[in-house]
Amino acid sequence: MFDFILTDAQKKLRDEAREFTRWVPREMILDMDAEKLHFPHEYLKECGRRNLLGIRISKELGGRGLGWVEDGIVAEEIGVASYSLACLWGVGADIVCEAVALFGSDELKQAIVVPLLRGDVYAAECLTEPRGGSDFFGATTVARKDGGDWIINGQKRFIVGAEGADWFMTYAVTDPGAPAHKRLTCFLIPRDAGVETKYLYGLMGVRGGGAGRVIFNDVRVPERYALNGINGGFDVFVKNMIPERLGTALMTIGSVRPAVEIATRYTSMRKAFGQPIMNFQAVGFKVADSVMMLDALRAVGYSAALAADSKTAHAGRVRRMASQAKKFITEGAWQIANNCMQVMGGIGYTSVYPLERIVRDIRLASIWVGTNEIQQSIIQTEWYKEYFKVLSKEPVRDVEQDALGADQVEEKVYE
Ligand SMILES: Cc1cc2nc3c(=O)[nH]c(=O)nc-3n(C[C@H](O)[C@H](O)[C@H](O)COP(=O)(O)OP(=O)(O)OC[C@H]3O[C@@H](n4cnc5c(N)ncnc54)[C@H](O)[C@@H]3O)c2cc1C
Repeated sequence: MFDFILTDAQKKLRDEAREFTRWVPREMILDMDAEKLHFPHEYLKECGRRNLLGIRISKELGGRGLGWVEDGIVAEEIGVASYSLACLWGVGADIVCEAVALFGSDELKQAIVVPLLRGDVYAAECLTEPRGGSDFFGATTVARKDGGDWIINGQKRFIVGAEGADWFMTYAVTDPGAPAHKRLTCFLIPRDAGVETKYLYGLMGVRGGGAGRVIFNDVRVPERYALNGINGGFDVFVKNMIPERLGTALMTIGSVRPAVEIATRYTSMRKAFGQPIMNFQAVGFKVADSVMMLDALRAVGYSAALAADSKTAHAGRVRRMASQAKKFITEGAWQIANNCMQVMGGIGYTSVYPLERIVRDIRLASIWVGTNEIQQSIIQTEWYKEYFKVLSKEPVRDVEQDALGADQVEEKVYE
């Protein structure tokens, strides 16, 4: 985040997160990328020990009780070490814990949130199915009532942290005949209820974070493990849109920042035609564009965080801004990563520098937690609603009337 607007307390928090990121063992990052390590328990344990999980979760449950701005400050620093670690950091503590803290019983809060924020257990979020992720309401995982329990059958895929998870926050159809927003339930399912996981994928990047297939074969869960009650999954899903999208956006800023720093150092030392290559505008301008974009990403991310923290921005506006941040930041980060690789020439494409890993990792950002096309459709929906319900009623100048031919109403044909 921009250091010149941070309070002293926020700077202290940033420095704590930086210190933790410096602690991350190099071997852990390399072993995860080489898929020698499938789930970094040690990372989450240390993060929990330093109380850097659950920045927005209440202190009573073991979090910091702070806001989105502080979450963003920490997320940026967490992202620096590796995008894969940041994904795990965000899914468990930011997404699942927020859902349980908002919609769960005391029993679930004590069983999941408290130990997760200590780094002792992990919880994955399971929406995407083999038949589709974008079409969330078309879920085929089903739950059938049996006495006081529900029996779950189905599969989810690409689930971050599946390999190491103790709990699975899973959406299942509980009322197939009901409209889309009343047919799904969000269950918290313990692994020992019989959940099976498979570490399947040869991922391009974000490796070692345990992403896998999750299989529910007659898995029995008590009804009290449903968040927001049976058929109440829609509200949980909508609330979770903010941590999914905004959280992802903010950590992506941190994951691409090292690319700019590495490219800046390299281009100031590497010489061609008798001078440092940063002196060639074709090179220096790419670095300049990357720095400009990095600050633009921060501005978009920071303002969305302020909106989410404010008591005045209404829910639709916050959803729009979170989706804007997700789309803008993940696409901007991709441009930055590519520019930085380009100015390093051939060596940027090798494992001598981590640029190639950053490029592979950042590519995921536009795809997961809702593709950027889905973010576009949310922005579109929320904007039209907001414009006609709120903005069009504000007493601002009607510039449409300032055209020379504004009074030619017969020419204003709409259908
Ligand atoms: C490494 C990794 C980690 C992941 N982690 C998780 C996780 O922890 N939990 C989880 O639940 N999921 C996770 N995902 C899944 C991810 O969120 C989905 O892959 C993503 O939402 C897209 O779903 P899909 O792959 O089924 O693609 P599809 O939904 O089949 O989409 C294919 C293409 O069609 C486009 N499309 C589809 N519908 C529309 C529409 N209405 N308008 C415009 N375009 C559309 C999409 O944008 C996309 O370009 C992860 C994925 C990966 C690769």
